[in-house]
Amino acid sequence: MELVNSGYTWKMDPISIYLHIPFCKHRCGYCDFNTYAGLDNLIPEYVDALVDEIVFFAAHKSQKLNAHTIFFGGGTPSLLTISQIEKIMNAIGDSFNLTADMEVSLEANPGTVDFEYFSNIRSMGINRLSMGVQSANSIELKILERQHGYSDAILAMEEARRAGFENISLDLIFGLPNQVLADWKENLIKAFSLTPDHISLYSLTVEKGTPLEKQVKNGIYPYPDDDVAADMYEWTMDFLGENGFAHYEISNWAKISGGGEINLSRHNLQYWKNKPYIGFGAGAHSSIGGYRFSNILTPRKYINQMSEMKPNKFPRTPTSIEVQLIDKEVAMNETMMMGLRLLQQGVAKNDFKIRFGQDLEETFKDEIRELLKKELLKWGGDSNQTLLLTKRGRVLGNQVFMKFV
Ligand code: SF4
Repeated sequence: MELVNSGYTWKMDPISIYLHIPFCKHRCGYCDFNTYAGLDNLIPEYVDALVDEIVFFAAHKSQKLNAHTIFFGGGTPSLLTISQIEKIMNAIGDSFNLTADMEVSLEANPGTVDFEYFSNIRSMGINRLSMGVQSANSIELKILERQHGYSDAILAMEEARRAGFENISLDLIFGLPNQVLADWKENLIKAFSLTPDHISLYSLTVEKGTPLEKQVKNGIYPYPDDDVAADMYEWTMDFLGENGFAHYEISNWAKISGGGEINLSRHNLQYWKNKPYIGFGAGAHSSIGGYRFSNILTPRKYINQMSEMKPNKFPRTPTSIEVQLIDKEVAMNETMMMGLRLLQQGVAKNDFKIRFGQDLEETFKDEIRELLKKELLKWGGDSNQTLLLTKRGRVLGNQVFMKFV
């Protein structure tokens, strides 16, 4: 029997591979990702465990799966040495059929990378960088407790280009405490001058339990102003739109080439299209073979659990926890929630019908009617057969996504 993942079969769709590298030099004050400072000594053992997990997964499938994107995320994947990255890439190459034009991304923090490092990883097949610039303003970088200065970001961009990277994305954060619209404009214009191919922008959230939350509670910084953040977002849509970038996902803009092609993140598209992906490493998430699951959170426990090699039912691995079966209803809701994030592609009636065998408008009759009435959704695309967020819906996206939880 063909294993089905939420309506997609593995025969039809290549999968995406995520690798979590949960180590950082310092934990930034706003960060609530699964990452740890001061555990660098665990990295060699962790890489071995990661390779074991990849091999374990592949060994339990009689035929190699096709994969078309790989993403080294974190944490700070650029803390791995060249030989550690090579070890992981070799394990993936032995375990999957990799498509010839595959996208292989690595998150890099300015200040942790240089020309030699970039050249080496480029020659290993990594062809996309996601650079954690976050801000071009030294006071803001201090508020965020980033370990780099903007000059490190400029240097990292220059050296990455020189090493042959033609696909570089920048991450920036807006809506910081004390940040006014003029600060954000200056930030974005400066970062834009680094000539990125893709830009991911996130509005700062003061996460529970972070040092930033404490600082805000203690009055050291004011709580970020949501209205100012909304103004920044609106201005960003205009600025990047006028400067050759397509706003293709709520938080993501991609350069439009001379031929009109959009340089979007193929790896993230896999998530937004609700297609199968496998995550390796501590805390990594997977959605594959009709199941969603995540891995045990801490690097130490992950390493220990992998060394025990406890058998687990495919597609799970010895470190998988929190397994959830994705039934049709869940898959349909998730397809809406993720797909509507894609501003031009949205959710097409026809695609929905092919995937789930039922009509989109019938399935979500009440939700769609209400969201159309509130002007948060609209019909668009070819012959008005695709459900899309309106401009208002982009700003108030959470009100839309909540309907499909
Ligand atoms: S570098 Fe990124 S992952 Fe690491 S602590 Fe800072 S925000 Fe978190």
